[in-house]
Amino acid sequence: AYNFCAGPATLPEAVLNQAREEMLDWRGTGMSVMEMSHRSDEFVQIAETAERDFRELAGVSDDYAVLFMQGGASSQFATIPLNLLPEGGSADYVNTGIWSKKAIAEAKRYGDVNVAASAETSGFSEIPDQASWQTRADAAYLHYTPNETIGGLEYDFIPDSGSVPLVADMSSTILSRPMDFSKFGLVYAGAQKNIGPSGLVVVAIRKDLLGKARSNTPTMMNYQVIADNGSMYNTPATYSWYLAGLVFQWLKAQGGVTAMAAVNERKAKKLYGFIDGNDFYANPIKPRFRSWMNVPFTLADESLNGEFLKGADARGLLNLKGHRSVGGMRASIYNAMPEAGVDALIDYMTEFAKERG
Ligand code: PLP
Repeated sequence: AYNFCAGPATLPEAVLNQAREEMLDWRGTGMSVMEMSHRSDEFVQIAETAERDFRELAGVSDDYAVLFMQGGASSQFATIPLNLLPEGGSADYVNTGIWSKKAIAEAKRYGDVNVAASAETSGFSEIPDQASWQTRADAAYLHYTPNETIGGLEYDFIPDSGSVPLVADMSSTILSRPMDFSKFGLVYAGAQKNIGPSGLVVVAIRKDLLGKARSNTPTMMNYQVIADNGSMYNTPATYSWYLAGLVFQWLKAQGGVTAMAAVNERKAKKLYGFIDGNDFYANPIKPRFRSWMNVPFTLADESLNGEFLKGADARGLLNLKGHRSVGGMRASIYNAMPEAGVDALIDYMTEFAKERG
């Protein structure tokens, strides 16, 4: 079966097999990783290796702290303003879809939020030209969502934020291609797409942005505290961290993010090319800004949606139903989705259109 779920998403089969082999007895310790003290030598080794591999893959220098926090990207929507938006200060946000809207709504609870640009005027089909953004030079930070997982709208550039720290919700694009990390003040990503199981959120924060949290910030949300304690202020999500480490090793074995990017681009181009070339299917996003990871599409006759999904399921093409807020279909094709999965999807879509279109 091929699982096209947007998250929790498919994981590399090799990773799941390794986890199964190590499930009951991790390397002769007689314990599952799940049962280990997070302060044991064994787990600290697992944790440190995972961090090192993540830094290597993503190109994160020692100028940044890498944090393995609990919760999800949604908890970061509040954690970010609590740490970076001073009382009475303001922050800039760009609205490109449902996830940026959620980030904006949460940040508004903590201070003045300026929506510097919005993709709403284009029906969320293109990223507004940066020349038109109403950013403020005195903003505490500029927040954007490089890839909108639901809408399938993705930036093909890194915004220039000048001296204002750039903050990015990379939940659904992290490690899918090389990125110049030095352009960012803070990057965060919920794990359950390109990193591992849910419950974990990876944060990379430039060290000069630490230590600015408001005094009433919950301790568990204070980046400085988490950094000072090696992400072990409390008991971290140990098993998710371990699995993330296995995914990082798998990624390195594939040739890292440069090799992944080539495959990801090929998979996405193939699927969009098919959709564009077939009257029965459509994707509304301007080609330049189409997501490599999440491909939403509609059927010309929406009354066939149920039948399309049923047929897909019967073939082992799982979770193609679009997000409940937008309907239609969505194929999430993260790093762990093999190219053969995209080929199988295209074969099915071809047949379905021929029979029912
Ligand atoms: N941001 C983006 C871009 C997402 O895709 C998601 C989840 O799909 C979230 C935030 C929310 O993540 P979480 O469920 O980890 O809070």
